[in-house]
Amino acid sequence: MTVEFKKIPVTGIAFEVSLEDIKLIGNAKKKDKTMVVVDGKMSGKVIHQCDRCAEEFDLLVAEGVEVFASDGIYEDKGTGELLNLVEFFDGSINFDMILQSELEALKSDYHYCGKCEQIQGV
Ligand SMILES: [Zn+2]
Repeated sequence: MTVEFKKIPVTGIAFEVSLEDIKLIGNAKKKDKTMVVVDGKMSGKVIHQCDRCAEEFDLLVAEGVEVFASDGIYEDKGTGELLNLVEFFDGSINFDMILQSELEALKSDYHYCGKCEQIQGV
């Protein structure tokens, strides 16, 4: 699902995308001329290899997502804010891409299967 930056209002639009068994439902709101804030919730499950025993298991996902989408290159105006930022260069936000990158970020964290969680006392 892609939406042109200029079609996103300050009042926001709702969106919903999915990738395999993961869904991202939320809202995209114009922040300024070249910036849109994407707020949502990622939920579902994804197969993940346990980072301790390497056994595959269903990782349940329920994560809040906040992404800043920039229309073109984002210029840091010296605010020093650490933004979770994605730049788009064709004038449109691609929500599938946002979900994909959030999912990759999630997968790159450490996750343990049920058995290992017990051992580790997490
Ligand atoms: Zn494990």
